[in-house]
Amino acid sequence: DTFVDFRRVFLSYDGSDEFAVEDISLQTRQGEFISIVGPSGCGKSTFMKLATGLKRPTRGSIAIAGADVTGPLKFVGMAFQAPTLLPWRTTLDNVLLPLEIVEPYRSDFKKNKAQYAERALKLLKTVGLDGYADKFPWELSGGMQQRASICRALIHEPKMLLLDEPFGALDAFTREELWCVLRDLWTERKFNVILVTHDLREAAFLADTIYVMSKRPGRIVARKENPLPRPRE
Ligand code: ADP
Ligand code: ADP
Repeated sequence: DTFVDFRRVFLSYDGSDEFAVEDISLQTRQGEFISIVGPSGCGKSTFMKLATGLKRPTRGSIAIAGADVTGPLKFVGMAFQAPTLLPWRTTLDNVLLPLEIVEPYRSDFKKNKAQYAERALKLLKTVGLDGYADKFPWELSGGMQQRASICRALIHEPKMLLLDEPFGALDAFTREELWCVLRDLWTERKFNVILVTHDLREAAFLADTIYVMSKRPGRIVARKENPLPRPRE
């Protein structure tokens, strides 16, 4: 029941004579929550691009959910540090966006919109955004925007959620509140997570397994299983 499967993966960007990531081997179990920590420039974003199929490895192989990755994956949700909600859309219409873009939802989005809106409202409620569906991003606090971004990342029920410093810009109270929100969603829905963070406490609170990367070359230098009881067990 391996989910993510990197085997001896190297990547050098066009025109660069060194590897951005080097000899990455990593296997996750179905439903595992992993975190990648390491200094800026160690290759965390590159790892994410490889895991979503946005970049092809220079050497090595990557399979996700048992299939070789040959191009951008559809069953992925993503959220980032910078707010990326579209300012001209309400919270609800931001959350619905992936369903308008990704097949199989896209082709009959219009027909099923009411049903999808119901799904979105339920998700918004789960993250404490009851009553904010019709607000625009500028009417929400940073923490509320991040909650909405997580809903958008999950609306198409992806098998894998990729989070790149999703809570980095938030105050400590909001951040820890969102850790709990994310942990509850993950416990209930059982998707796979790759979380990139600088915050070791965050990694220790959330992840089953923590991978530490080093810079120049961008390698995995440590793997640590979380010794704390996990919410799924
Ligand atoms: P992190 O996300 O950990 O900060 P990155 O994956 O962005 O690290 O970068 C890893 C290495 O690859 C760095 O040395 C960076 O300069 C280089 N790099 C990243 N993106 C590109 C690119 N598009 N072209 C060339 N080099 C890049
Ligand atoms: P968060 O913890 O989500 O970042 P804040 O700490 O900024 O949110 O706000 C705390 C509460 O204040 C929110 O849960 C919300 O009920 C309310 N609130 C914050 N900003 C706004 C806003 N722009 N419009 C309406 N209510 C707001």
